[in-house]
Amino acid sequence: MTPVDPDRRDHAPHARHLSGDHPTAGGASLEEVADGVFAWIQPDGTWWVNNTGAVLGDGHGGPELFVVDTCATEVRTRNFLDSLAGATDDAPVRFAMNTHEHGDHTYGNSLLPDSCALIGHPQMRANLAEDGLIDGCPPAWDPVPEWGDVTRRLPSITTSTNLVVHSGGRRIEVIHPGYRAHTVGDLVAWLPGERVLFTGDLLFSGLTPLVFAGSLDGAIRSLEWIAGFGPDVVVPGHGRIVAGVDLPRVLADHERYYRFVLATAEVGRAAGMTPLETAFEADLEEFDEWPDAERLVMNLHRVFADVEGRPMDVMAAALDAVTFNGGPMTTHVCCLG
Ligand SMILES: [Zn+2]
Ligand SMILES: [Zn+2]
Repeated sequence: MTPVDPDRRDHAPHARHLSGDHPTAGGASLEEVADGVFAWIQPDGTWWVNNTGAVLGDGHGGPELFVVDTCATEVRTRNFLDSLAGATDDAPVRFAMNTHEHGDHTYGNSLLPDSCALIGHPQMRANLAEDGLIDGCPPAWDPVPEWGDVTRRLPSITTSTNLVVHSGGRRIEVIHPGYRAHTVGDLVAWLPGERVLFTGDLLFSGLTPLVFAGSLDGAIRSLEWIAGFGPDVVVPGHGRIVAGVDLPRVLADHERYYRFVLATAEVGRAAGMTPLETAFEADLEEFDEWPDAERLVMNLHRVFADVEGRPMDVMAAALDAVTFNGGPMTTHVCCLG
């Protein structure tokens, strides 16, 4: 591991900055968070702008990579894979995984080498197979995202519990929490030897969490589960890398937000209001500082649906979020350079 750099406290305690500020990378950077373990961090982490990762090991045929997630667009995924190739002397990607089905983590799958095995949860696989947004994004975001030359690529290996990938002498544990949280098919990647945890969107570091496709109760439950790994470094699905010492604070932030959403929903339902009316009446207080605050509406839709024991109307939730926002939601996914 490289020594602590006090100037990089916002990243991981041992992060080594390898590349970034590339004119077409939108300020994204590849950070080596442990020896041969990489995080691709894309600011500012808002709608459609995610983090990914990779683990470099020494396989039978030479160095090889295990990749965690791809990006939403062709350009962003190519930037990630090119940067990774540069840092690893073109090590081949042998395995990859998707932490969940959302397009910001999966649309770039088709840019991974055909020969790599792609791992995901079976429900994640089923949901990506039916995801229509990859064929054309509705104008709920501004500017309307254009993904580029990507096609829907589904996992070739699925697990609904856990599996261990031995890639290049590394032990990588791919684990489902056992319940729905951010989505129905969440998986994390845990490296017990290096004590690095890739959480996908179970964590949004410094941004409004999104739980419309999962469960508020499950999301709360997942926080203790994440803490139980005792990681030294956590790579969230969005936002800054979290050092183990800072993890309790980040988990507490999430729990406060989730409980705020639950309490707000209770007040709204008791008053006979819709999720949108409830959101307009709510006082976000400290959470107003977090980007993508309009996610409150979508999160409320999830709680209302769960309490009322009915499926959630995703389209209605998205349209209400646009109304709450006063227009299409802002995304920087196609703004590079
Ligand atoms: Zn995401
Ligand atoms: Zn997500």
